[in-house]
Amino acid sequence: MGMHAKPVLRSAIAYPLNFTCSCGQVLIENYNKYIFPSIGIRCSVCFSVQYTDILESGETINNTILKFSSGEYGFGETIEIPPGVSITGDQQFADHQTLLRPRNAKRSFPSMHVIVEGVIEFLQKFSKKNVSAELIKVGKYGNWRLAARENPIYWSISHYKRNISQIFINSDENLAAISIIFSTYGNISCWRDHPLFNEIAKEIIGHQFHSFINFCAPCILYKNNLLCELEVRSSVRGPKTDFFVRTANGAKLPFEVKTPEALQIPHNLKVGILEGKNIIQAAISKSKRKNKYT
Ligand SMILES: [Zn+2]
Repeated sequence: MGMHAKPVLRSAIAYPLNFTCSCGQVLIENYNKYIFPSIGIRCSVCFSVQYTDILESGETINNTILKFSSGEYGFGETIEIPPGVSITGDQQFADHQTLLRPRNAKRSFPSMHVIVEGVIEFLQKFSKKNVSAELIKVGKYGNWRLAARENPIYWSISHYKRNISQIFINSDENLAAISIIFSTYGNISCWRDHPLFNEIAKEIIGHQFHSFINFCAPCILYKNNLLCELEVRSSVRGPKTDFFVRTANGAKLPFEVKTPEALQIPHNLKVGILEGKNIIQAAISKSKRKNKYT
């Protein structure tokens, strides 16, 4: 037979690499890990099975997937995978991707008491600080805006606990505390089963205001069937994007999210100005002017 058998698979997109057997036979022409993850291919020259790269913890592929049940399949001709399609085994892949989906994306919330206790439990598990001591410490700040800015999660819990009988959305301070508690709890409950949750937790605690929107936006996109890949600090070298989706050709489409100034808690928040649409439009116009988009 020699070393000239046809490849088993080929991507219609011309990637620079081929996936090759140890005997030298090309098994996949135009190979990209995000198009052909986690499959085994038997070489028609030496009959050994070679496995393609697996997805790392937290990695996604694009949404259009040709899935095979476990088993061995024979193809007479090279199968060409069209642009925008990935191919993989169904069960292993399903298990892998299930973990990346946000939970509770509909955001149905339990009672406020359960939410507050959930956030405290989270802090006890992932914060390096002594939680009880820190809650007492932030409660002693004179200026709530300063306290909320420096240490939002601890401040909001502390504020809630000190004012438990009179927490209504009737002041900037209460609104700020409730927003922070809800955002934190929402992100914890969405991502608690994610394989990188230890890292996500560090970002929720270490970059609190940014993490509110950073981890909330992928939940909203998921409701529109877009599964995002979260980019947590430990998983990347160099500059980090907020999150991204895998495009049809396996490349990264990065997303950067910003919170409009008018919605930034606590220094700009005012009860009564929360007309979301206007605020967002104003922020987009300002950003466009700044970046000179046409
Ligand atoms: Zn071979």
